[in-house]
Amino acid sequence: MIQDIAPKTFNNQFKNRKAQPKDLFLSYKGDKILVREDKNKLWYPSFLDFEKNFPKLIDRSQFLFTIDDINYYLVEEKGLDDLEGWVYADTGRFRTEPKYWRSFAGVVGWQLNRWYKNNKYCGRCGKHTKASINERALICKSCGSQIYPTIFPCVIVAVYDKNRLLLTKYKGRPYANFALIAGFVEIGESLEDPVRREVMEEAGLKVKNIKFYKSQSWPFTDTIIAGFYAELDGDDIITLEEDELSLAIWVNREDIPTDELRISLTGEMMDVFRKGILDL
Ligand SMILES: [Zn+2]
Repeated sequence: MIQDIAPKTFNNQFKNRKAQPKDLFLSYKGDKILVREDKNKLWYPSFLDFEKNFPKLIDRSQFLFTIDDINYYLVEEKGLDDLEGWVYADTGRFRTEPKYWRSFAGVVGWQLNRWYKNNKYCGRCGKHTKASINERALICKSCGSQIYPTIFPCVIVAVYDKNRLLLTKYKGRPYANFALIAGFVEIGESLEDPVRREVMEEAGLKVKNIKFYKSQSWPFTDTIIAGFYAELDGDDIITLEEDELSLAIWVNREDIPTDELRISLTGEMMDVFRKGILDL
């Protein structure tokens, strides 16, 4: 999966540390990220690369995280792509870039960039917020409000019936591969509640034997995903929720499509069921 970057290590611990010239930085323009493409790989800029043309850049950077001993910072600056060789590339590339650690850095930075941008003003009193020097938080000095990064919990459910798995396709998505039942956790719910609710809402089916499998951070949509297997309970006739799904079908184990990229928990859960290597 996209977060499996071993032997490299992702460290999200906050540091109040001034950037150094050799540190890397991430810069976004909407859903695009500043990169240099060389030998079919994405490279992120260091402050050294931009020192001559943007000498103040280093002072306006925000610490993000570390991968191994490389520190990543966030920068918001216009005109960086005027420098030869640097372009804003679509973050959709993260879904296909084979070096997962680079994709993972870019997509986690993208989530943090959204959070910083969306919280420049306090939601309670409307005044400017400021980054805390003690932790990853934005502080409103006017009313004392503290704002932490936004993470939405959601579940995906692999519904099975003996040798068959329930596969879906979502409507209006640019990456319309086969998916599993999925949905956000509502206020007041446990993680298991939306498993039952979403399967009923999206496919009109009942489930039993709900078993947690693994979780995954999915920074593309600011979510943390909990993946469950659940066994069909009773009637197998699907009633499709047509507002959200374009398709929901039972697929025999041997006909389940393989996911070559393996960046998502959905892909891994489909693969594990196809191979029959899980004791359900
Ligand atoms: Zn405030």
